[in-house]
Amino acid sequence: MNPFYNPKFLLNVLKTYLFDINRLKRLNNKELRRFQDKRLKKIVHFAYTVPLYHDKYKKSGVHPSDVDGIRDITKLPVISKDDIKKYYPDGIISSKSNRKHLVEVSTSGTTGKTLPIFVDMFDIVMGLFGYLRTIKEYDMNWRKTRMTIIGDFAPHTAESGYIRRGLQPRLNVNVLFKNMQWLNTNDEPQKLIEEINHFKPEFIGGYVGMLGHLALLKEKGLGKDIAPKYIAATGSVLDKSLKEFIEITFGAHLFEVYGATETGPIAFECKQGSYHIMSDLLYLEFLKNNKPVASKEAGKLIVTKLYGGGTPIIRYDAINDIVAPLYGKCTCHLSGNLIDKIYGRDDLSVILPGGRVLLPSSFSEIYSKILYGLKTTKVKDTRVIQHSLTNIEIQVVIDKQLRNKGPPVERILSVIQNGLQEKVGSNVTVTVKEVKKVNEKGPRIVSKVDKNNFEIHQYV
Ligand SMILES: [Zn+2]
Repeated sequence: MNPFYNPKFLLNVLKTYLFDINRLKRLNNKELRRFQDKRLKKIVHFAYTVPLYHDKYKKSGVHPSDVDGIRDITKLPVISKDDIKKYYPDGIISSKSNRKHLVEVSTSGTTGKTLPIFVDMFDIVMGLFGYLRTIKEYDMNWRKTRMTIIGDFAPHTAESGYIRRGLQPRLNVNVLFKNMQWLNTNDEPQKLIEEINHFKPEFIGGYVGMLGHLALLKEKGLGKDIAPKYIAATGSVLDKSLKEFIEITFGAHLFEVYGATETGPIAFECKQGSYHIMSDLLYLEFLKNNKPVASKEAGKLIVTKLYGGGTPIIRYDAINDIVAPLYGKCTCHLSGNLIDKIYGRDDLSVILPGGRVLLPSSFSEIYSKILYGLKTTKVKDTRVIQHSLTNIEIQVVIDKQLRNKGPPVERILSVIQNGLQEKVGSNVTVTVKEVKKVNEKGPRIVSKVDKNNFEIHQYV
C-alpha cells in the first residue's frame, strides 16, 4: 500500500511537521538531551532486530538494556563501511521492516566506492523536514517561495531515491511543490542557467562546484534575471573567497547545508553564521586517535541517526569527514550543539611527513582560486597521486573546447603548483602535469603510502 494513503503514516507526517520542525526552538538543551536519550534507547532496541547490529553487539558483549541514554553511547561498537557491505542486503534491515516500503540508496562514489543502504518513507520525510527547517530559518515558505533545487539525480543517488523513487511515485510532487524547480547537477551549466533564468527563483540550492560554475557564467553576462535572495550550498568544502564570489555575483546571501546519504541532513548555517547540528535527529561524536577532541579541534566524525526504519546508523564511522566541533552557544537560541569547521573527506586526504594530514579543504582552496581568481572553468578534472610521503603528483585534465580561451594552461598549472607547495612545505616534491583524461569512475586521490600506524598530529 502507498504509505501516503495510510492514516497512521499521514498522522505521523503531520505530527512531525507541526512538532519536529521547531523542536530545536521549543526544547532547551536539558530537554533536548532527554529527548536524545529516549530516541537512542529506542533506535538501539530496533537495531538489535537487524542482523548486523545484533551480531556486532553480541560479539562486544553489549545488550540494548545497557544503554540508558547518550552517556552510554560509547559502550556500543562503531560500525564501518565493511560491516554494512558484509551484511548487505538482508542483514542490514530489520526482520520487522516490510521490504516493500524500503528504498535503496547509495553513497556517491567520490572515492570510487559506493555503499548501498535502505531508507523508509519516514526517513525520507524526516530528511526533507531537515531541509524545510533550514528554509524556515531564513523566513522562506516551502509552499510559496520560488525555489530551484539542483540535485544529483543520477540513478543511484540519495536524491533520486528520496525524490524520484520515494516521493514522486507516491505523491503528485509537481502539484504539491509547484513553486519548486528540480534540476539535475549532472546537466550542462549553460542549460541550467537558462532554465533558472526562466524560472526566476528566490532561492537556489545546489552543490558547491555547480554554484561556482553558474556564478562564473552569470558574471559573463548569462542569467540576467536570476536574483535570488538566498543560496544554499552543499556537497563539499566551500572556500571563503569562492563563497564571496558567488554571493557578490548573485547579490545573494549564501548559507551552507551539511548532510550525507547515510544520515540525511546533519547541520546548517543559521543567519548568524553558526553551524547548528540537527541535534534532535542525530548525535555526533568527533574523535582523534579514538579520543574525543577539544572545541575547535578537528576530529573524525562518528554519526548516530536517532530515527528511521531503514538501515540503522549507530556510531557509524564511514562518513569519513573531518569536522571540528564548537563547544559554545549561538545568539540565535536554537538548542543543540555547534560545528566549528568542516574540513572534508578523510579518505580524500594526503598524509605528509611529521604526522601532518592535508585535507580536501586545502585542495578546494587551491582549485577555487582558479575559478574566482583566473575566472575559468577549463579545469575539467583532476587526480592526485601520492607516490611517497614526500612526492605528490597532480594530474589535470583541460576542457578541449575552452583550451584557447582565457588564461593559458601553464598559468593554471602554476597556480595549482604554487598553492599546493605552500601548503605542504618545501620538503615535499610537487609535480603538476596535464593529462588527456583520468578514469572518471576511479578515485580522485590515490595514495601509495601505507596509512596504517600513522599517528595524526595536525590537519592542514
Ligand atoms: Zn545560530
